[in-house]
Amino acid sequence: MNPFAYSRATDPTQAVTAISGKPHSKFLGGGTNLIDLMKMGVETPNELVDINRLSLAQIEELPDKRVRIGALARNSDVAEHELIKTRYPMLSQALLSGASPQLRNMATVGGNLLQRTRCYYFYDPAFPACNKRKPGSGCGALDGYNRIHAILGQSEQCIATHPSDMCVALAALDAIVRVVGPNGEREIGFRDFHRLPGNTPDRDANLASDELIIAVDLPAMPFAARSHYLKVRDRASYAFALVSVAAALDLDANKNIKDARVALGGVAHKPWRANAAEKKLIGQEANEKTFQSAAEAELAAAKGYKYNSYKIELAKRSIARTLNIVAEMTS
Ligand code: SF4
Repeated sequence: MNPFAYSRATDPTQAVTAISGKPHSKFLGGGTNLIDLMKMGVETPNELVDINRLSLAQIEELPDKRVRIGALARNSDVAEHELIKTRYPMLSQALLSGASPQLRNMATVGGNLLQRTRCYYFYDPAFPACNKRKPGSGCGALDGYNRIHAILGQSEQCIATHPSDMCVALAALDAIVRVVGPNGEREIGFRDFHRLPGNTPDRDANLASDELIIAVDLPAMPFAARSHYLKVRDRASYAFALVSVAAALDLDANKNIKDARVALGGVAHKPWRANAAEKKLIGQEANEKTFQSAAEAELAAAKGYKYNSYKIELAKRSIARTLNIVAEMTS
């Protein structure tokens, strides 16, 4: 690991000032991804600004019924919070499906948003071709072992997937990310927070290096109480998603779909909001045929590679299965 300077921030403004104009400095939260990457030599910051003592860990309901989650709230605390379990069960389930209990006790909401891909080639600096780690060097996964890679929204520059479970639920919920930087606070809609790879796969998010995530706001969305997160993976725990689905349905008394939210994980460079599926669902009766038609629509543009084409059928079946589970829920 490279030597680095360490300091401890006392408030968000001071944290931003400490890092401003220093592109090789980074904030340190739970450290569950960043420290691994530093040990591997993938991340080489020359300074860490520890933000763990900032008071940004609250989970609270706002007067307009939105729920605000502080950026330093630990994944375990968010998952077990009564507001999250009852109003946004898919978010609680997504968090509990990620990592291990020990890691969830350390990992923060802000850090989870900024997790980096687990592409094997990205994680191994001895491997020369990775545009995300070293722009312009090529993509080892394109013609390599790409079993865990993207089938939607990828580019010739990068076919990596976003690793977070939490972010899939946040995408379905249209969460708002609140950040502070040298010019003050701003809000970023969840759709605009993460990026597709395009020609700049080294950039995962639309966040400047001197901006600090301070909170995530969840909209008051009563029908999110009828929601579910399904994660398909190689083993039952401590594994990243091959495909995951977060879904919520707003049904009338006749089981017709008034509104729908669907997002996918494990299939794209960012948490994938399933707009085509939602369009197919709204106004239709909640039944198997509708769900399969929505799944087909969402995956129509999918493209597989040598080892990951199985994900296309897996994603279709996962969407239909998750929607079936949600439709059978009593609330
Ligand atoms: Fe690097 Fe992306 Fe290619 Fe993986 S898929 S080797 S992260 S450029």
